[in-house]
Amino acid sequence: MRITEIKTYVLVADNADVSLTSSAQDTILVEIYTDDGIIGYGETDTNPWVAKALIDSPGTHTMDQSMKDILIGKNPLDISKRWEELYIGTAMTGRRGAGVNAIGAIDMALWDIKGKYEGEPVYKLMGGNVHDTITPYASLQPLGSSFEEYRDSLVEWAERAKNLGFKAVKSEVTMNGPYTHNGMNENDDKHTLVIESVRKALGPEVKLMVDVQYKWKTAEDALRTVKDWGEFDIYFLETPVWTDNLEDYARMHEEAPMKIAAGEWLTTSHEFKDLIEKGKVDVAQPDIGRVGGLTEAKKVSKIVDKYERIIVPHCWKTSISISATAHFAFNTPSCKFIEYLPPQLCHETLRKELANEGFEFKNGLIQLPTKSGLGVELNNEAVKKYTVG
Ligand SMILES: [Mg+2]
Repeated sequence: MRITEIKTYVLVADNADVSLTSSAQDTILVEIYTDDGIIGYGETDTNPWVAKALIDSPGTHTMDQSMKDILIGKNPLDISKRWEELYIGTAMTGRRGAGVNAIGAIDMALWDIKGKYEGEPVYKLMGGNVHDTITPYASLQPLGSSFEEYRDSLVEWAERAKNLGFKAVKSEVTMNGPYTHNGMNENDDKHTLVIESVRKALGPEVKLMVDVQYKWKTAEDALRTVKDWGEFDIYFLETPVWTDNLEDYARMHEEAPMKIAAGEWLTTSHEFKDLIEKGKVDVAQPDIGRVGGLTEAKKVSKIVDKYERIIVPHCWKTSISISATAHFAFNTPSCKFIEYLPPQLCHETLRKELANEGFEFKNGLIQLPTKSGLGVELNNEAVKKYTVG
């Protein structure tokens, strides 16, 4: 089998708002065509125009080749070889960041092709399932611009998630810092009050994760407040400090009363090795597309196993990424939860409309996928409706 064509689409939701902290309002969809008639689908969580340019651009020299040219005419089933060719061939422009993000979308599509060709779900091709079900955590999005509106919206979402059967919930609590919600600027005590209210609404049975989106500058700043959050039984605290401050992460690991999670932006297993070795984080959060696809995510899982850590993948995108994440999770022993943007609890139209999920969600649990490949069926009407480039 040979790759015959690669199509890239920039999709943006009709209600997209650039002032929101939500990357699920847009996506880059990658379709890889083969001479067998099989089409593979992938996407990645980065600026879609940038990813499209990275995939479509002509090459300029041996260290800066065209991704499309590298792939056309090659066998899509030899995925790790294709991955290496892309990584080495685009190293001057790529190697980390958006270049690896773009490879992630291609890798996802190649796994989809391989699964469809062999008539097997992707998790089986990766080595089979080590879990019978996967527990997704519902990511809740706050609304409003006052403290009261913010708190009450999160409490309401938490109650709805609980009623939908979710066994775990992650609450964003970011009312100051670089990604503050709607320009808010509330002190740390107000953050504590929000967490207290969400925990109360959930009761003791539902796991609670908290994402503060890099709101503190140092571990010292963070610990002043989070040392008192032990009573809320927080499963993990996500990105308390800036992603490059590995020494601060190591201190958080030593002194905070809950697990520390990070890694949503990282590309390649090399960056995760640093995060775990130097930053000592307890929970690695690779995003399957961004980190470089399923192939690279498996390498991250080996590092996580070596250091006896936990993986809880980041995923804030459409059903394509969510399905790829689920296949990864079923095959990954250290994966305890996956992030899940529930279509019933979100505003993102692409999440709701672009594709179906390649699995069944029942009683708060993701069931083992049965369809070939990623199991995703694309809604071509939605592709047409939201394509802008
Ligand atoms: Mg986050």
